[in-house]
Amino acid sequence: MATIAPFAFRPEPLPDELLSSWMLRTAAGMLMKPYDFTHTYWRSKPPALTRDIDRMAPANIITGMAEGTGIPLARAYQTTLGGYAGSLFGEMNAQGFAPWIMPVGVRHRSRQSFGQQFCPKCLAEDERPYFRRAWRIATSSVCVRHEVVLADRCPDCGESVAAHRSPRLDRCWKCECALRDAVTRVADPEVLRLQAGFELAIKNGWAVLGQGVVHFAPRYFLLVRQLLSLVSHGPRRTRFLRAIGEHRWAHRMPGGPIEPAGGIEYLTPSARHDHFAMVAWLLWGWPDLFVEAAQKAGIWQSWALKDMRDVPWDYQRAVRPDLVRASYQPTDGEISAAIGFLDRTRDRVWLDELVELIGDNKDLKQKGLVKFVNEFRVMAG
Ligand SMILES: [Zn+2]
Ligand SMILES: [Zn+2]
Repeated sequence: MATIAPFAFRPEPLPDELLSSWMLRTAAGMLMKPYDFTHTYWRSKPPALTRDIDRMAPANIITGMAEGTGIPLARAYQTTLGGYAGSLFGEMNAQGFAPWIMPVGVRHRSRQSFGQQFCPKCLAEDERPYFRRAWRIATSSVCVRHEVVLADRCPDCGESVAAHRSPRLDRCWKCECALRDAVTRVADPEVLRLQAGFELAIKNGWAVLGQGVVHFAPRYFLLVRQLLSLVSHGPRRTRFLRAIGEHRWAHRMPGGPIEPAGGIEYLTPSARHDHFAMVAWLLWGWPDLFVEAAQKAGIWQSWALKDMRDVPWDYQRAVRPDLVRASYQPTDGEISAAIGFLDRTRDRVWLDELVELIGDNKDLKQKGLVKFVNEFRVMAG
């Protein structure tokens, strides 16, 4: 690989700066348009800024930025979302699904997803406005410094952020409105505390849960993600929220069904903020409050473990002994709710999937579900 000569302008990444932001600032400092900058140094192979380079972290771009600015390669790599491997998640999956990484949906230079969050007050305060890496992950719903909920779109025209198409990093690419003018919502103190804890866990690589038990951070975040899924998705959601709300938050329950396609990474910062308030409560009283609320809501093992391929031990320990009912028989209402859920989220409702969702009891499969197979459009097989 050819080496890159030092750039005329060699800025270091600012604290927690994102790779794309650092590249755009470098290009601007050299009075080059973003496309000209990447084309000059990388021949636009790959066409860097039209893809999610913060997530994909192409080796030639990272190396080129390190060489061009004269900073260590390891520091350059820390500007990418892959830098969260070993803290927010185990390993980075640059192509397929990556938990907590918010999608920017880059397609033909236009970004269709609202995954580039920002704090308007940080941008307003910055001497040199820039995008933080933490604004691309779904654990961030608030700015701990300014105590506000993050924004994710232009305050004027509502477009998502696409800084590489914008004349200035901190302006909307479409209407050129200043992103710092976005109206902010005051953050809930519980969510601020929770997020400060997340940030510490990412920094340290470990987290404390419930009664002071220390956890490897990726396992802790796996558990947090499952709790966030339970409070924001699925047919048991409303009852689960009600059971949690009985404790103290009934007056500000998150609103109606949301269930965005694709999971929690597609929720707006505001919706994640509201749901994290519930998660904060569950984590604070872990595992007792979770078990109590899950029992009240009728969440049993298969729901609680739903879609979890890799179950953290602490979660398993909380879920297994307390939420397994030996001779459990789902009520007709519960089965209907499960069918309705599958119907909304799948092309067809398969009996096996239904059984997996409501309990893997063999008798149940043979007897209890037969009438539903006939009555509803449930596919046996
Ligand atoms: Zn801020
Ligand atoms: Zn706009």
